[in-house]
Amino acid sequence: MPQGGPAADGLPPTDELHCVRVSALAWCFSLSDRLGAAEIPHRVEAVSDEGEQTDKVGAVPYGVYVRPEDATAAGEIDAEHTAHQIPDMPDEVDAADDGACPACGAAVDGDASECPDCGLVLL
Ligand SMILES: [Zn+2]
Repeated sequence: MPQGGPAADGLPPTDELHCVRVSALAWCFSLSDRLGAAEIPHRVEAVSDEGEQTDKVGAVPYGVYVRPEDATAAGEIDAEHTAHQIPDMPDEVDAADDGACPACGAAVDGDASECPDCGLVLL
């Protein structure tokens, strides 16, 4: 990630963008695909200053960023994406029921707060 100068994606600096979602990289990339299909300029970047998430082990959260004027459209795509990833959209994702991550299918401990494979946060 080059420092300074115009970004290759043509977007302003990340701190001037709207954060659509912070999640695991795999999730952010699949959301990125949808935003790309909708021709919404966006950026996926590691979130390094999430001080409240320091209990994460080895999983760096990533953020999906868009221009503020695209925030509403991107939010709708994010909601559609979430519904697509988890069709039943339960009130609470309980990994203990089947021991598998709802996003990637990896085995997950019942008491895990996130998927060890893709980093999906399990509510
Ligand atoms: Zn997973």
